[in-house]
Amino acid sequence: MNIKESIEDLRRKIRRYDYEYYVKAQPTISDFEYDQLIKKLEKLEQQYPEYITPDSPTQRVSGEPTKEFPSVIHRYPMLSLSNTYSAQDFIEFDRRTKSALKSDAHVEYVAELKIDGVAVSLSYEQGRFVQGATRGDGIRGDDITINLRTIRSIPLKIIEGKKIPSRFEVRGEVFMPKKSFEEINKKRAEQEDSLFANPRNAAAGTLKLQDARLVAERHLEMFAYYFFTEEDSFLNPTHVQNLELLKRLGFNVNPHFKVCPDIGAVLEYVREWEEKRSSLPYEIDGVVVKVNDLQQQKILGNTAKSPRWAIAFKFKAEQAETRINAVVWQVGRTGILTPVAELEPVKLAGTTVSRATLHNPDEIARKDIRQGDFVFIEKGGDIIPKVVAVNLSRRDTALQPLKIPTHCPVCATKLVRIEDEVALRCPNVECPEQIIRRIEHFASRNAMDIEGLGIALVELLVKKGFLKNVADIYSLKAEQIAELERMGEKSADNLIKAIEASKKQSLDRLIFGLGIPYIGVTAAKILDRTFQSMEALQQADMDRLQEINGIGEKMALSIVDFFRDERNRQIIDRLKEYGIRMESTGLESKQTLQGLTFVLTGTLPTYSRKQAQELIETHGGRVSSSVSSKTDYVLAGDNPGSKLFKARQLGVKVIDEKSFLDMLGS
Ligand SMILES: [Zn+2]
Repeated sequence: MNIKESIEDLRRKIRRYDYEYYVKAQPTISDFEYDQLIKKLEKLEQQYPEYITPDSPTQRVSGEPTKEFPSVIHRYPMLSLSNTYSAQDFIEFDRRTKSALKSDAHVEYVAELKIDGVAVSLSYEQGRFVQGATRGDGIRGDDITINLRTIRSIPLKIIEGKKIPSRFEVRGEVFMPKKSFEEINKKRAEQEDSLFANPRNAAAGTLKLQDARLVAERHLEMFAYYFFTEEDSFLNPTHVQNLELLKRLGFNVNPHFKVCPDIGAVLEYVREWEEKRSSLPYEIDGVVVKVNDLQQQKILGNTAKSPRWAIAFKFKAEQAETRINAVVWQVGRTGILTPVAELEPVKLAGTTVSRATLHNPDEIARKDIRQGDFVFIEKGGDIIPKVVAVNLSRRDTALQPLKIPTHCPVCATKLVRIEDEVALRCPNVECPEQIIRRIEHFASRNAMDIEGLGIALVELLVKKGFLKNVADIYSLKAEQIAELERMGEKSADNLIKAIEASKKQSLDRLIFGLGIPYIGVTAAKILDRTFQSMEALQQADMDRLQEINGIGEKMALSIVDFFRDERNRQIIDRLKEYGIRMESTGLESKQTLQGLTFVLTGTLPTYSRKQAQELIETHGGRVSSSVSSKTDYVLAGDNPGSKLFKARQLGVKVIDEKSFLDMLGS
């Protein structure tokens, strides 16, 4: 076997294993063996780059981040299905279909699960995946090929040995499995990023990402449900045969489709899955019913918007009914009070739920929620479910409207309502609960990451009076800790070591750890990169802060307010005295751009031209105003000018802000 053949042979094997793993879920080799094959292929391709082809399994994630997706016109319009929530409409659909096909026609249906995801269209030519697009308006969609390539259940090349049309189209639903969705939201909650409302939003958001590497990390999958070709010899008589063909070609077809001899069987299928839906590892929001006979489909045709041969039955959102035993008001680290309902434990979408958020006093008033009420709960994007409505028919007439607290349940300070905000806030920054939450936040994994300093220990230390603010952490003595219940000398020593180690954490973690309202992980990183030191950040005024891309007015105001507070300034001074890092780590590797010449063009997403220039210069690089053969890099943003063209002509490397920041090692 020559090199080219061994490369092809490896690819063939990997494709087969991918199919077994991602589509059939029946792997025949271990992950280790699989990784070895991939490594072998990568090595060969590195040695012989002339043999790299876009359909190689190593090329799923490729290309530079894109700015926007080009639009494509669908070869066949992507119609949407008409949908209904009632069985009556289903029976009507059956009657209409039969009368359009002559009343004595026998009509067989195929019922499929309606996957709650994003519809996409995939084009294949000569067995290769050449283009993938979103539905868009049905006529024109976005070309998201680069992102779809990262989905392992989409074959880049049809498994060999199959007779296939030279050109065909596949439609399917890209979705995020429940497990990936929960993991992503958990991570986002930790980083104080906004949460995805549901797996569908998460899948849609992911497909719009401009960096395919990030898409690859999100574990999207696809079920194929539609096959189309114009080549006569591949035209099957029924839809079910097309589904079987898709399976043979290596596509992931949902296994639960069913051929139904009449509409009664369809209704039974709907009832069955409405009950069983929570047992599936992905979300479904209904059932799709199609006429099985493709000839009949053709006769029925389409309306302007949707096919006449299919209809979707939508399930209502999954709910459970239970009783509110009590309502407690939780005080957060910024003083905001959140009402939480303690529920009679109930099963919902596969888990037992005993708490639900009531959001804020306005929500309670709007829904007229009372302690002792029976309520319907639903899972949203949050980890904690929400109360949708009260079941008034079961309300005990003795129940009184909920009392909205006027004073903090922890420190008894009079509560305030901030303008423009519905939330109630305890204004006492020395409120013990706020202190506990702030210190816990400071020590948490995404902030200073002090191992062993969890909520329970923080509570104990605050109660003992050892901790009043985050600076006190650094004056803790091993003896003090060892005295506490369940803390031996050993764990006390370990904690002191962890506290000591946290002094070296990066500036962005410190900024995030301070708990400035509205400043999450991402904003903290931007502030670190922009200001490079706590001192510079402290001195920044509104104008300067608002110039920064990614820092809005609300954030800017919050930062200015935070540093205006004398108590916060004192805490920072003390942290400085204890030797906590107050400078960006970027400053230490200052000379990473030594000897390199940059030319700037276009608008960068985060930095102004001036800031970028400063950054290059503080790292030892040089900025020139025109591109020449001596230019090392052109740093290009949006709407670049002729400099970009010149760079391309001269073969000068063009980079975007992200790659630039990677060069700085931040
Ligand atoms: Zn309080």
